[in-house]
Amino acid sequence: MKLYNLKDHQEEVSFAQAVRQGLGRNQGLFFPAQLPDLGDIDALLEQDFVTRSSRILSAFIGDELGAETVRQMVSNAFQFPAPVAQVKDAVYALELFHGPTLAFKDFGGRFMAQSLAAVSDANGNITILTATSGDTGAAVAHAFYGMDNIKVVILYPKGKISPLQEKLFCTLGGNIHTVAVNGTFDDCQSLVKHAFDDAELRQEVGLNSANSINISRLMAQICYYFEAVAQLPKAARGNLVVSVPSGNFGNLTAGLLAKALGLPVKRFIAATNVNDTVPRYLQDGKWDPKATVPTISNAMDVSQPNNWPRIEELCQQQGWGLNELGYGAVSDEQTAETLRQMDADGYLCEPHGAIAYRILNEQLQAGETGLFLCTAHPAKFKEVVEDILQKEIDLPAPLAKHGAMELLSVERDNDFAQLKAVLQAVQD
Ligand SMILES: *Cc1c(COP(=O)(O)O)cnc(C)c1O
Repeated sequence: MKLYNLKDHQEEVSFAQAVRQGLGRNQGLFFPAQLPDLGDIDALLEQDFVTRSSRILSAFIGDELGAETVRQMVSNAFQFPAPVAQVKDAVYALELFHGPTLAFKDFGGRFMAQSLAAVSDANGNITILTATSGDTGAAVAHAFYGMDNIKVVILYPKGKISPLQEKLFCTLGGNIHTVAVNGTFDDCQSLVKHAFDDAELRQEVGLNSANSINISRLMAQICYYFEAVAQLPKAARGNLVVSVPSGNFGNLTAGLLAKALGLPVKRFIAATNVNDTVPRYLQDGKWDPKATVPTISNAMDVSQPNNWPRIEELCQQQGWGLNELGYGAVSDEQTAETLRQMDADGYLCEPHGAIAYRILNEQLQAGETGLFLCTAHPAKFKEVVEDILQKEIDLPAPLAKHGAMELLSVERDNDFAQLKAVLQAVQD
């Protein structure tokens, strides 16, 4: 597989290099130079999740790693289902929260860990550095926990993620180190970028990023869009509208890649909370990020979504106009109202999924089938959901267990020197 740097098309790398490096020169994102031909899509959709996903990912990286290795990586990573649930007539939920940390990031995080293990040489040290607005951190921490020779450092905005989210990944210890930063998610993301710009530090600690900029994560996420269509009634193929609750826009990038690979989806909807840089851009063509606003859908509190250049590149490659994308932004009050309405209709959701559901409902036309992505388990946002619905939600086992454990995070300011010291300290 060949990938190129979006900021410097001369820089071409293999899958192994892209996974190891995360980012290219000038913080450029890697993008596949070519999309593979998957052959008969209907036949592919007949296969089971792991077999089909192995085929899709082998089509990208089989030449480099071998089809058998890819199949092994996929079956190690995808050990839980991605079921589709009908919510009402012609509207379905893709539940991506049945993994160990109860959010869709388990798919990408676990496949990334498998990929990194497959492409790294045994002697080099590797430090995974990632910023999280909540769920990436948990997925990455659990995916890498206990792996030899790999250290993990996770930054998150102090006080801006849910207490249970925090418990889920800041209680592991071992090779997992968590830093509560006095700042926003965007500050955390800038600190990470700064670290990658420091060539000496990068070399010294073997820096690697594991957030949604790593191409292996996006590739894994392509697979569950196929899985959704495989489960939907066949009549939905071709008139399907998929609504994606978006923050950093990795999930939507993966969906559009699935469509480019031949998945029969009519259109996608980019659904955000009031951090609406992309909806405003799609409306008036101006890229004008504002200060990030905290919301109840905090995993989407991102005003400078760093996967957006990949979406622009893909649309350009495919000859798709950006105006083919649906979009919408939802306030906290509207999110709460939607959650109550969904609950009354018999579907328990959480704020991120509810945002995607609301915009889908507003924009779905007669004759179309709608699918929205449920990116996290409702219990992951227990306080918020219980407060809105005025009822108690059960905690699934992984959350209950971590909820009772002690937080092991250190606290630091939004200051690169402090981060650097942490990165050096964890090497011992
Ligand atoms: C990360 C996350 C999102 C946003 O996904 P992106 O790929 O960053 O757009 C939405 N919902 C939940 C629950 C998340 O954890």
